[in-house]
Amino acid sequence: GTPVCECNACFTGLDCSESVPDCVLDADSGNPIYLEPFWMKHAAKTAIVVSGWHRMGYEYEDGSLISKELRSEIFKLHDIVKNVNTTDRYIIFGAGSTQLLGAAVHNLSLKSSQPAKVVASVPYYPVYKSQTELLDSTKYKFTGDASFQNTSDSSTNFIEFVTSPNNPDGQLKKAVIEGSNKIHDLAYYWPHYSPIVAPVDEDIAIFTLSKLTGHAGSRFGWALIRDKDLYERMVKYMDLNTYGVSRETQLRALKLLNHVNKGEGHDLFEFGYGTMKQRWELLSKTLEASKRFSVQHLSSQYCTFLDKHRTPSPAFAWIKCEQEEEEECSKVVLGEAKVIGRAGSLFGAGNDYVRISLTDSQDHFNRLLNHVEKLVSQEKIRSGTR
Ligand code: PMP
Repeated sequence: GTPVCECNACFTGLDCSESVPDCVLDADSGNPIYLEPFWMKHAAKTAIVVSGWHRMGYEYEDGSLISKELRSEIFKLHDIVKNVNTTDRYIIFGAGSTQLLGAAVHNLSLKSSQPAKVVASVPYYPVYKSQTELLDSTKYKFTGDASFQNTSDSSTNFIEFVTSPNNPDGQLKKAVIEGSNKIHDLAYYWPHYSPIVAPVDEDIAIFTLSKLTGHAGSRFGWALIRDKDLYERMVKYMDLNTYGVSRETQLRALKLLNHVNKGEGHDLFEFGYGTMKQRWELLSKTLEASKRFSVQHLSSQYCTFLDKHRTPSPAFAWIKCEQEEEEECSKVVLGEAKVIGRAGSLFGAGNDYVRISLTDSQDHFNRLLNHVEKLVSQEKIRSGTR
């Protein structure tokens, strides 16, 4: 047959199932390819066809930039999953959640005349820092770890990113600075990755299609906003920035979410949770046998959506090199396991940590596990425990 996807560097052959020996496996990116088989199973029902003449104009019929149907599917999904309180919330669409993160920071910074301090507790998703620094605004600066800020001056406008579950370590996080303007990044607060413990009830909650359905390339995210003024400012920002999200993207998101909602989410979430949970069991069990490497501890928790206790299923392994004399952990993992991860320093943590992504294809994960198993068995041979 014809190739179904582009092969990762470690695979070859028509269906990318043949392993390339001695290759270096790239596990740096959080690409959500593990969801591809789910959508292949529902290929016909979730396909869209767009005619050349279709929806060429800037606005929808009502003059707005957002699809009312898509808005309603999103609210419906939140009502099913109960991961966020949607009562009296305004909604904004963005080109991925990445655009919304920047929009939120910009508009929250306008609340004070002094430059705002943008913070996140370590380890944090690197884009908060790099995006804030790239924009190099006079209105806000990234000032690092939220846990180490001088909070004595009550007039300081802190803008705190709260990522829960967290990228890289999967922990459910809370804000650390009292009274800060919080941006809750809930990219992973779905049953694939996390127990749903309660609906999040915050002023700004940001979600993304990338981690929900896996369609990262469609670039679609949304923000639920409580405050009307902030909402209006953010709408204005989006108008001037991109004039809204591509109508083709909105159509695709609508088709996908409509399918998810038809099954009350169960199909997708059972596939997502089942896959991620199995991967975590295999990887964490393999690393349990190691004294050199440890991985984050996550506990089983009750999930209101699944209505049962669930074992952990994070999107990333946050690996620590336990031996102090060891050089950078990402270098150790690259040199000895031939796996490319993301160095701890990018997350504001030490380089004794490295993040490995668990969301790629099944072939990719099997290969990753194989590399890690070899690494751990070499350690056993060296220390004579075998
Ligand atoms: N927030 C977090 C915590 C993420 O991990 C990611 C993607 N890696 C994003 C936001 C951005 O996702 P996107 O722009 O694709 O919506």
